[in-house]
Amino acid sequence: MARLVIVSNRVLTPGGGSSRAGGLAVVLKDAVTTPGTLWFGWSGRTADETSTDAEIVVEDGVHYATISLSRDDYQKFYVGFANGTLWPLLHFRLGLIEFRREHLEGYRAVNESFAHALAKLLRPDDLIWVHDYHLIPLAAALRHLGVRNRMGFFLHIPFVPPSVFGALPQGARLLKDFCAYDVVGFQTRAHHRDFLDCVHQILRYPSDDAGIVSAPSHAVRAIVTPVGLDGASFHKQAERSARGKNSRRLFASLAGRHLMIGVDRLDYSKGLVNKFEAFNRLLARFQEHRQHVSFLQVAVPSREEVAEYAALRPELNRMAGDINGRHGAFDWVPLRYMSQGLARSTLAGFYRLARVGVVTPLRDGMNLVAHEYVAAQDRDDPGALVLSRFAGVASYFDDALIVNPYDPDEIAEAMNEALLMPLEERQRRHRRLFECLCALTAEAYCTKFLKALSGNVGGGARSSRREHHESLGHT
Ligand code: UDP
Repeated sequence: MARLVIVSNRVLTPGGGSSRAGGLAVVLKDAVTTPGTLWFGWSGRTADETSTDAEIVVEDGVHYATISLSRDDYQKFYVGFANGTLWPLLHFRLGLIEFRREHLEGYRAVNESFAHALAKLLRPDDLIWVHDYHLIPLAAALRHLGVRNRMGFFLHIPFVPPSVFGALPQGARLLKDFCAYDVVGFQTRAHHRDFLDCVHQILRYPSDDAGIVSAPSHAVRAIVTPVGLDGASFHKQAERSARGKNSRRLFASLAGRHLMIGVDRLDYSKGLVNKFEAFNRLLARFQEHRQHVSFLQVAVPSREEVAEYAALRPELNRMAGDINGRHGAFDWVPLRYMSQGLARSTLAGFYRLARVGVVTPLRDGMNLVAHEYVAAQDRDDPGALVLSRFAGVASYFDDALIVNPYDPDEIAEAMNEALLMPLEERQRRHRRLFECLCALTAEAYCTKFLKALSGNVGGGARSSRREHHESLGHT
């Protein structure tokens, strides 16, 4: 059997701080379990020079190979182009783009360094699976070094239509970089369609109904393979965690009130400002909830070297103070806001205690917190999920309360509906959400992608009713 080589910007090396919060880390950790797999990427360390050779650690048969980046490369590649240009572009936030040519050059240079260090480790029949927006040019850089292996790329974040992608300087070259792969995967049909439209309109490469792009040198298969997690095992973890010390303390502190929960990285794409404003409006407009609900928002700091991220923290601190000052009472703090991360196992129990999960990103590739919230619920007395229509997961979770995250009043109304939702309706919605969840596992994700990468036809995602309608052109 061919060896699998996974490449991602960060590698979770054994004992190397796997507590970093983020969906990609969670998905890859679940996926990289087969002995013999090689996982290659950045160590998370900076040094005077970018390494030319990887350091290798082996645990449970998995080989972890990492390189360090020079501080200058890190700034240009990671802070500058990947998170200062590509992230806002692919989250539809053109106004936040900080493009600099030297950042793009640094981004390409780091992809070349990855290619040089990785090429030394490759065997002729390895299947190479590259993850996310940091590494779009990696296949082209490897091909340039003479690597002929099959290579696939999965984009964990959204893709945008040509009218938005067209704003990216030298965007046509980046699109050609996508087309150096044999397989390119997306979270939803909408992202997939936008990619094919870009390739068609900007590069003039035609594609067929199966998503096969005719690039000049070879055929590129564009597929939909949504990420997911093992819902049944997360459910068990939530049951255990809800009986543990932290959940019992949280439960006692609620003093009989309902809990609403939000868990996000502290990122402008997560819509936290609108979420706080929505909670403010819930308490102002639906006063029966005063004293009867507590909202716990966990917001883990992220990418603070990027100016927009650093600016978000004081804004949320201010809003949290205002909300609690305005609505709180001497024996009730309405908004419990933590700008520190919690262990995923602790969160599992907290989700289970929460009557409402609030997941309202302005844009998101998928959003695993929504999966986790559904997986964690008690089937006999489940909570309800308020979900942004612009999270990738909304294409699959038809039975959540779907909202427009730009409208705090609409979110507040959905919070109110969720808090008042009768048991029978909660059970009915949860049953259907759990069914969707069970079809979107990490295993299904890997199997579909690897089938396409190894050259077998396939890779279409299981369609929800909404996706099915979309594919028929009904939306
Ligand atoms: N997470 C965590 N601790 C925290 C906050 C988040 O372990 O304090 C995890 C969360 O459980 C989820 C992941 O980080 O598995 C976030 O993934 P998601 O897809 O929702 O968002 P991303 O951060 O990838 O944009």
